[in-house]
Amino acid sequence: MNPTIEALLILQERDTKVANLTAELEGLPGLIAGVDAEVNARKAQFDELKNRTRQIEADRKKIDLEVQSKQAAIARYRSQQQSTRKNEEYAALNHEIEHTEKEISELEDKELELMEAYDKGLATVTEGQKELTAFQEKAKVKRADLEKRVAAVTTDLAGAKSKQAEAEKALPEEILARYRRILKSKKDVAIVPIHSGTCGGCHMKLTSQTAISARSSDELATCDNCGRIVYFSE
Ligand SMILES: [Zn+2]
Repeated sequence: MNPTIEALLILQERDTKVANLTAELEGLPGLIAGVDAEVNARKAQFDELKNRTRQIEADRKKIDLEVQSKQAAIARYRSQQQSTRKNEEYAALNHEIEHTEKEISELEDKELELMEAYDKGLATVTEGQKELTAFQEKAKVKRADLEKRVAAVTTDLAGAKSKQAEAEKALPEEILARYRRILKSKKDVAIVPIHSGTCGGCHMKLTSQTAISARSSDELATCDNCGRIVYFSE
């Protein structure tokens, strides 16, 4: 095989490696941020659950204070009854007492409901805490793995770049510039094998002139259609 073609193929392989490692390295911070965002979202969800449960207990305490104040009112009505001699006033106070007792009973029902809801809430919080801790542990491992990957890819990339530079040095400047130009416009590969008379890049039939030129060892042949450098691999 033409030594220039050989040198170009080595460079292309190293270019691909550098491009792949660069793409991976660029993607890693996003993956790490994704892990962090998921942990934060789970934590916020858990905090909300905890706050809701706390609110239930706060609501119950408020009702409890209402009950106490209504019980104090009843005690007041009773002492007023003892000091009155008017039957009408006595009956009116009785009515107030009955009414307030009914209110207390309703409040106590509500309090019981809230106590049950609070117990359920506490159980959910305990379960949620366990789930959150497990999730955080997993995320920590995942994050550490990604950080390790950043370090490994950074090292690999440095190595790949120095090998890439070596491969560039093996080529005449003019050919290197031509190769770089084609690669820049094609994005994927600049040099492709010929498969049964067609270009390995765009798959169009090559002209006989291109095929002849690819057979000769002193020049580089290019596909008339896509402009990639073509070569016979056998
Ligand atoms: Zn082509």
